[in-house]
Amino acid sequence: RPTIGVLALQGDVREHLTALAAADAAAAPVRRPEELAGLDGLVIPGGESTTISKLAVLFGVMEPLRAAIRGGLPVYGSCAGLIMLADKILDPRSGQETFGGIDMIVRRNAFGRQNESFEASVEVAGVEGGPVEGVFIRAPWVESVGAQAQVLAEYGGHIVAVRQGNAMATSFHPELTGDHRVHELFVAAVRAAG
Ligand code: GLN
Repeated sequence: RPTIGVLALQGDVREHLTALAAADAAAAPVRRPEELAGLDGLVIPGGESTTISKLAVLFGVMEPLRAAIRGGLPVYGSCAGLIMLADKILDPRSGQETFGGIDMIVRRNAFGRQNESFEASVEVAGVEGGPVEGVFIRAPWVESVGAQAQVLAEYGGHIVAVRQGNAMATSFHPELTGDHRVHELFVAAVRAAG
């Protein structure tokens, strides 16, 4: 089984650990730069991207993680995690940084405020057996992608899932549904890279 970390600075870490275990990975929370060593892959959870950004600097994982992603570490981010994997944020809060890895521009909170959160069926390229239930919570969307990035899903005319090389991201939260097919897709990518 591949060992997959979940960046445990803030966000829905426990839900990703559970989903990864169900997708047959050995999952472990990761907080410090030393803990990146020996990982076959890493998940950046949903939560609040400005907070994750600040804590990543504070815990000293911002630069090591950027380097690891550039070096080919397979990564998957949901929601705030998608924002953290974007090379560019359209409307960053002051000082907000990302790990980068996917040549895309994201718009934070694009689908509206907390009380406008919703669920919708989303067809995801590479996921067999029908659409997944997308849980969108103050979700970002992807304004545009570069030539290297592959769009995996759209909803309402907006890009909500993307993959580029070793990096994959969704605007929605598959970790909250009990349907582990998106995590299985990532675990398969981790195995293929290993
Ligand atoms: N809107 C949040 C952000 O900007 C993301 C919300 C989420 O992860 N559910 O980080």
